[in-house]
Amino acid sequence: MTDTRATVICPACGLEERFSKLADARLRIEHHREETGHDPDWKLGRFAPGVEKMGEEAGVCGIPER
Ligand SMILES: [Zn+2]
Repeated sequence: MTDTRATVICPACGLEERFSKLADARLRIEHHREETGHDPDWKLGRFAPGVEKMGEEAGVCGIPER
């Protein structure tokens, strides 16, 4: 089953939740921010615009292009 549209990830506490609706994922992020003060990120589909930047900060290689 691959109807995951967005994965919400919070590096601060290890949260990882999948959503089939972007709106739900967005709400989750906002709520998590309010509740914990963390700064969760999300991946859209399989890849996300923020992933490369995050990987850079974490010292992890980006997505292989070849
Ligand atoms: Zn968190």
